[in-house]
Formats: sequence, C-alpha cells, structure tokens
Amino acid sequence: MKTNFLKSRWILYVVFVLTSALLILILYPSSKEIRVKEVEDGDTVILNNGERVRYIGIDTPEKGEPFFSEATEAKRKMLEGEKITLEYDVERRDDWGRILAYVWVGNILINAELIEKGWALVYTYPPNLKYRKYFCSLQTQARKAKVGIWSLPVSEKEKYYLGNKRSFRFHRPDCKSALQMTERNKIVFKTREEALDSCYSPCRDCKP
Ligand SMILES: [Zn+2]
Repeated sequence: MKTNFLKSRWILYVVFVLTSALLILILYPSSKEIRVKEVEDGDTVILNNGERVRYIGIDTPEKGEPFFSEATEAKRKMLEGEKITLEYDVERRDDWGRILAYVWVGNILINAELIEKGWALVYTYPPNLKYRKYFCSLQTQARKAKVGIWSLPVSEKEKYYLGNKRSFRFHRPDCKSALQMTERNKIVFKTREEALDSCYSPCRDCKP
C-alpha cells in the first residue's frame, strides 16, 4: 500500500517536471525572440519591444553624405522584420540609453557585413573593442576592393595626420581635437592610408 502511494507520488512528480520543462521550452524562445521593427537613419535600429540598439564598432554615412541612401537601404534589406540575436561587449548601454550590441541575423554579423560591403567604416569606442581587429581586417579588404565608401575620391591631403592612442581617432593637424591631445596619446601618421592601416578612424569633425 505504502509503496504504491510512493510510486504514484513519484509518477506525479515526473509528470510535473516534464510538463514544466515542455512549457519552458515552448514559452521561453518566443518571449526571448527579438525582431527589428525599424531601421533608423544612422547606426540605430528599433526593436519590436521598443528598445533601440546602436551597432558597436561601426559608423555608416549620415544624411547628406555620399552613400547614405545605399547604406540605409542595405541595412533595411538585411534587418527589417528579421529575428536577431544581440551580442554585447563591455558596456551594455550608451549615454542615450540605447543598447550597444553586435547584431546577428542567423550566422551573419551585421556590423561586420556592413564594413565588408563598404557601407560602414570601423569606428570603435573603448572599452568596446571585442571585434576591432577583425573589423579592421574586413575594412582593409573593402578598401582594396574600393567598394562603397572606399570608391570615393580622397579628400584634400595633409602633410601628416595625428592619431589619438586612447580613442583610436585620427585628425588633420589643425583639428581642435588634435590640438587638445596630450603628447602621451599622440601618434603621427604620414598618410591617411597609414592611419587606416593602423586601425584608426577618421574624426567626424575634421573628416581627414
Ligand atoms: Zn579631427
């Protein structure tokens, strides 16, 4: 009698655990599923849960700049309506409350794809540098192939450029940010190509 009672309790317990596991399996992925609702101008996407995500490590052309519409269109095609996975770096959010992330669609890393196609340039903010080297190798290929933004004629040349070892930006010598740089952080590049080869990103103000 007692063993039967224990047995039935045991069966009930097993049924309970299995049902719970099944429910978790059914409910969990859908609650975790994130989709892109809208691709905004610039480097932000809006998700189906209302959150805004800023891609890490890249900068795409802004409104009024060459290849803005092509880059925006490419992002829409790759992302709008798609189910995505977010991968984080050191910082989870920026000062505007946006999520900072590497955006995956299946096994495609969108941040990398945009660099590879020449729709974005490498633009890292320390400490979020997980894929910096990888992104730069893709950018080198895109520069060689002269795709997208790399097909544009180079802007007016300087005798030298000044890089900032802390921010990985490089400037024209007379840029305000270059003049404010401490000697310790300063690095001189003879050409724009040398700065890009060293994985430094052009300053947004002086646009070297
Ligand atoms: Zn500058």
